[in-house]
Amino acid sequence: MIVPAVFLQDENFVDLLYIVAFSLFIYGLSGLTGPRTAVRGNKIAAVGMAIAFIATLLTRGVLSGSSTPWLIALGVVLGAAVGIPAALNVRMTAMPQMVALFNGVGGGAVALIAWVEYRHHFGGDFALKVEIPSLFAAIVGSISFWGSSIAFGKLQEILPGRPIKLPGQSLINAGLLLVCVASAVVLAAGTHSQLLFFFGILVAAGVLGLMVVLPIGGADMPVVISLLNAFTGLSAAATGIALNNTALIVAGMIVGASGSILTNLMAKAMNRSVPAIVAGGFGGAVDAPVSAGSDGGTVRATSAQDVAIQLSFARLVVIAPGYGMAVAQAQHAVRELERALEAKGVEVKYAIHPVAGRMPGHMNVLLAEADVPYDLLREMDDINPEFSRTDVTLVIGANDVTNPAAKNEPGSPIYGMPILEVDRSAAVVVLKRSMASGFAGIDNPLFYEPKTSMLFGDAKTSVTEVTSEVQAL
Ligand code: NDP
Repeated sequence: MIVPAVFLQDENFVDLLYIVAFSLFIYGLSGLTGPRTAVRGNKIAAVGMAIAFIATLLTRGVLSGSSTPWLIALGVVLGAAVGIPAALNVRMTAMPQMVALFNGVGGGAVALIAWVEYRHHFGGDFALKVEIPSLFAAIVGSISFWGSSIAFGKLQEILPGRPIKLPGQSLINAGLLLVCVASAVVLAAGTHSQLLFFFGILVAAGVLGLMVVLPIGGADMPVVISLLNAFTGLSAAATGIALNNTALIVAGMIVGASGSILTNLMAKAMNRSVPAIVAGGFGGAVDAPVSAGSDGGTVRATSAQDVAIQLSFARLVVIAPGYGMAVAQAQHAVRELERALEAKGVEVKYAIHPVAGRMPGHMNVLLAEADVPYDLLREMDDINPEFSRTDVTLVIGANDVTNPAAKNEPGSPIYGMPILEVDRSAAVVVLKRSMASGFAGIDNPLFYEPKTSMLFGDAKTSVTEVTSEVQAL
């Protein structure tokens, strides 16, 4: 279809394109509620984003200026040159780092736009309805950029996953927030010609972003990532208000609202409070690793053959997968084992912890990829009462989400986090490569319990061996 040129710069036509774009965002988002529709939902939202981008280019004044189209083209080429290979090559297990990085870049872009807006109006007329959202975007975008950078460092294991906390952390955070708000008030009150205050905002908010995320322990990272995501959305929406760009307002609010809902759900699942995150008291006060083995507990190694016998004579087997299953890409092998056991009349269920793996829904996505029937998947609250009648629980590459220290050791950094209560089943077999800790960096007393045996090795190799043994019995 050829659009008559007269329409192209027409405001109504641009608005129409924006409405189509938002509708696609919302429709695409609804697809993200289930693993089967998620990829299609993502593609639909991406088409919406392309339409919003075209609509922005068609907006009167955007392409004015001789160098502007070239600068925009340069931005598109650079962004595509970095983003496309990164997205194509990222390993599934490195996805959370990528999300943290992209989220941070979004927050950083918003803070830079606020800075450009500020310079644009420097010394001139800056209406409060533009200035206030710009200042908000500068603060929140900067927090999000620096906070996400620390989250990336922790997830990529460039920085230690354990909490890093300064004495008087909460007071420092409150002081930094005060500097941001006070500088913003000074600027909004009319002294906005003083660039120093704007820099003060960017620096104080940046340090606040670092300070908020550094003390957060490994196990609590999922909550902070979704919180930072919500921050980026809100700051983008504020920039949309400042620039009078409806697309940015709607897209920012969608991210802000969905990020806030996810943060709330994650915090509930982890038994944490969101205000405690912002106050810097999140993630537990203890940063020394708890040693479960120090009380003389011993570890019992087992073999694939013994595990196969144990499983074949069970009535109910529960599989508790975790991050190690994702690393080993063992989901298809696990599905084969489930089939082999079912063929022998054993009932098999999967126990899904809300933060198992490295992103929300990680286990659901992997198991759906391996065609595991959805009705075999049990959420944590549904499966926990069933462990007492479970003969064998097979823990496949999960660690923190099964750690009984969360229930029994008040000094533990993960104390209070709900876990899969696998220790209540009659026997537990843990598949992992070594005695190494999980993301939270703490020992797991489960491994030393008399009812637990360890099958050391890569999860995919171990599961495949166990399956062959089961089939041979
Ligand atoms: P953990 O990180 O606690 O443990 C994973 C275990 O997998 C490790 O102990 C490791 O032991 C084992 N492993 C690694 N590679 C392999 C392999 N190839 N074969 C067999 N085992 C392997 O994972 P959980 O899923 O139990 O817990 C998730 C953790 O990540 C929680 O602390 C959670 O809070 C955090 N987190 C979750 C996010 C989310 O959104 N879901 C986001 C960010 C963090 P070994 O090296 O000995 O093999």
